[in-house]
Amino acid sequence: MRLKTKVVCQSCGTPVEKEIFKGTEINGALSDLYCRRCYMFGAFTDNAMTAEKMSEIVHQKMIELKFPRYLAQLLAEHVHTLKRWVPSKN
Ligand SMILES: [Zn+2]
Repeated sequence: MRLKTKVVCQSCGTPVEKEIFKGTEINGALSDLYCRRCYMFGAFTDNAMTAEKMSEIVHQKMIELKFPRYLAQLLAEHVHTLKRWVPSKN
């Protein structure tokens, strides 16, 4: 299921609110799935990334941004449900 109003990066879970934050395909087209931090020119920027690692990074970032801990936890867990990490599920 995809939200109609905004794109959420299917790698890190970050909302992609502006076109300039979208990742790019190899032909330069904008990606509707990933943000530019995760995905550039048709490839993931960090191939060694795992769902576990991404989840930790997201959690860390949310704490840094002074999000409530329960919300940071929720968003970190949400990472595991994103397309990049669950490719077979729709
Ligand atoms: Zn991303």
